[in-house]
Amino acid sequence: MAKKVLYPEMLAEITKLNTDGLTIGSIAARYGVCSTTLSSFCKRNNVALINHSPRYAGIEGVLHQKERHLRRHIQNPALRKARYAVYVAIKQGKLPKARDCVCLYCDNMAYVWHHHKGYAKENWLDVIPVCSKHHGLIHKGVHNRCQD
Ligand SMILES: [Zn+2]
Ligand SMILES: [Zn+2]
Repeated sequence: MAKKVLYPEMLAEITKLNTDGLTIGSIAARYGVCSTTLSSFCKRNNVALINHSPRYAGIEGVLHQKERHLRRHIQNPALRKARYAVYVAIKQGKLPKARDCVCLYCDNMAYVWHHHKGYAKENWLDVIPVCSKHHGLIHKGVHNRCQD
């Protein structure tokens, strides 16, 4: 099998794939190279890949994850409105702060009101308190079965 080589022309596409949510590993697989080769190729060409696999998630990976999270919030007006409705309800005293509650799945302090029925207007205040760990798990689908 011929050795696969990466060309600078591929950078735009690689960046796009990465922004679309592909990890370094899966992009590398597409081009038939290993992820280390892909990473150093991008580094050499000053392209920062945002979607690191957990193996690469040092402080940089964490920051990039936060960026992605933020971007999702900004790009998702339904989520933004639902979050805002909760914010207002807390301000008006209709809802306690998430941090004053206990996670629905464990004994940790809750950190967010999760919209377990989605972000439709009638469900804006239909929320459950969850800790950051379980909030993460919910959005990964692990706790979806508890959503009824
Ligand atoms: Zn929890
Ligand atoms: Zn949530």
